[in-house]
This record gives sequence, structure tokens and C-alpha cells, in this order.
Amino acid sequence: MDHSGGCHCGNIHVLLRLTKAPGENPLRACACSFCRAHQTRTVADPEGLFEVSADDWSLVEPYRFGSRTADYLVCRRCGVYVGAVCETTAGWRAVVNVNCLAERAQFIQEPSTPDYGGETNAARLARRAVNWMPAVVRR
Ligand SMILES: [Zn+2]
Repeated sequence: MDHSGGCHCGNIHVLLRLTKAPGENPLRACACSFCRAHQTRTVADPEGLFEVSADDWSLVEPYRFGSRTADYLVCRRCGVYVGAVCETTAGWRAVVNVNCLAERAQFIQEPSTPDYGGETNAARLARRAVNWMPAVVRR
């Protein structure tokens, strides 16, 4: 199942390959203050693939906060958050904000609300290597 999307102004492009139909993918609404401010609903299919590109990378903010171990990709022009990428021992991994996809309405699972606040950086990176999805960042 392939899905496309991106930010609102059209600078950031995302492609998402999922192994399940949209309505069968578990979603997360992470409890951190960044995700709550953006009202994110994220998906990560470890068997899938995420690709992100931009017409102008100078307009893509790789926002870091907290443990500073991932880049939360926010468009500097329109403010949309498309997803986060992180370099792990397994390679680049990502979570994707399904709200940035054209078919956002098809993702109908009620999100779980995990709170990763107490995690060590080592545990965080190990979890992402397993649970986040393979990512290609096209610069
Ligand atoms: Zn934009």
C-alpha cells in the first residue's frame, strides 16, 4: 500500500509504503509536548518504507528536542510536521505523521498514547531500531 503526502505548501514530499491497509495500521499519539502541540497521529511499519524529499531543503527544519536523537522534520514555510527520522544501528528509521498524507482519513485506528518520557537514550535508540520504519532521506 503506497501513500503520498507532504507539507501544506508543497515543499516537502513523502512517500510511504505500508504492508497493511490504512485502517489496519496501529497509530500512536505520543504523549510528548511536541506531539501534543501538533496533534500528531503517527505510523511506523518496520516492514514498510518511508521516503522524504524536498524541493528546497533550506526550508526544512530538522527540529531536535529532549534527547536530541531524532530530526522532527517541520516545514519552515507552512509549519507542517511530516515525521521524524533517526539514525540507529539498523540504519535510518522514521515515524510518519499520517495527518500529512493525502489519505489521512483512511487511517481510522484509535491511536495509543505511549509516554516515552522516562526512557534512556540507549533504550530509545534500540526501540526505534526495532519499531520505527526504514527511511530514505533524499537530499
Ligand atoms: Zn510547507
